[in-house]
Amino acid sequence: MKVLLLILVSLFMAANGYVSYRNYKLYEVVPNVDQYDGFSAWEGAPGVDFFKRKSAGRASTVLIAPEQQQEFEAFLRLNNILHNVIYQDYEVELEKEREQMAETRKTKSAFKIDGQADFSVFWSFTEMQSYLLGLRDRFPNLIQVENLAFSPEGRPIYAIKVSSNPIFGQRPIIAMETGMHAREWAAPPTTLYLIHKLVEDPVTSAELLARVDWLIIPMQNPDGYEFSRNTQRLWRQNRRNVTATCTGVDLNRNFAFTWRAATLSQPCGSQTYPGPSPLSEPEDYQLHHVVERYAGQVKMYLSVHTFGDLVLFPWGYTDAPGRIENWDELVNVGNIWRDAVLAATGKDYYVVNSLEYFGNINGAVDDHMLAIHGASITYTLELTDGFDFRYPEERILALAEETFIGYRSFGLYIGNRFG
Ligand SMILES: [Zn+2]
Repeated sequence: MKVLLLILVSLFMAANGYVSYRNYKLYEVVPNVDQYDGFSAWEGAPGVDFFKRKSAGRASTVLIAPEQQQEFEAFLRLNNILHNVIYQDYEVELEKEREQMAETRKTKSAFKIDGQADFSVFWSFTEMQSYLLGLRDRFPNLIQVENLAFSPEGRPIYAIKVSSNPIFGQRPIIAMETGMHAREWAAPPTTLYLIHKLVEDPVTSAELLARVDWLIIPMQNPDGYEFSRNTQRLWRQNRRNVTATCTGVDLNRNFAFTWRAATLSQPCGSQTYPGPSPLSEPEDYQLHHVVERYAGQVKMYLSVHTFGDLVLFPWGYTDAPGRIENWDELVNVGNIWRDAVLAATGKDYYVVNSLEYFGNINGAVDDHMLAIHGASITYTLELTDGFDFRYPEERILALAEETFIGYRSFGLYIGNRFG
């Protein structure tokens, strides 16, 4: 405990109130099958942050605190594990990001002079809120903003319901959420942009609201997002004080289906801590309930993250009983996204089963929505391959447009199939 406290204290740099990652090294590590268990055992250790843990034979990315580097490198050498250092000092990269964002903010905000949304800057939560409430006031017959609950720090969690029908939910619904993981900043702009297109662009409204309703939670974890923006860039979880000494639950491990209690490798305080009980976190509890309310109508569920160019489909949990029943359908529909984006932009998404790609993940939202709420076509999307959690602001709009092509392809498919 004392050591952990020391690390935490040293993390907090006086300057600007930012938590510093000075001399943290980012490694790319490719363990083979025999080396995999030993490598995975580092997950949850103090000073170890798995940006991405993939299955054996694939390149995982892991950030290691200065205090742990000697031991970690000795482990890699001893086991002869293929690896290389991507960044020697991650704080240098974060400084560049902060400088770039400060520069952008000199001339930009979420709104242009004419009042239109500007998708070339990362919005604060307050800006997201003003945009969404403004849209609702301007287009009351297309969009409803429901405040599902308040986050532990008192921010509203909005479910955006977009429909051209006076009563929402009579058509097949595509439900989705972004922002579950605080540091994955590039995902929320894609759903905000989708909302913008559905509501403000008449061509899109006509095409994508004709046979489908959209239930969108653009910011699932507002507290974590703001904490990542203002204090600790690599924060992943929510900000609930679980105990007096531990804050934060991984919202994508807290769902009820196949939830597993914390183990030694995921104690409270580790990045993938699943929480004290299933759906213990208000953010997840409300998401579960809003989808439950429309269960039967929710034909597709998307959980959108960064990074990787991946369309991942269930199951992802440990000891899943082999292939999911509708495996072929999930591959085929995933390929609709892949083909649409590929044709328009040349970007090649990889459609793959979660378990196969990442190894097991329990208590995740995708398995839950499929198993509990019957959203039989469910994906976790990982955007922005070639970057980590940092993403250049000048590329946000292009990413939003590209991702919209994927969302549109799914909208047309669900409309044709169920509408
Ligand atoms: Zn994520």
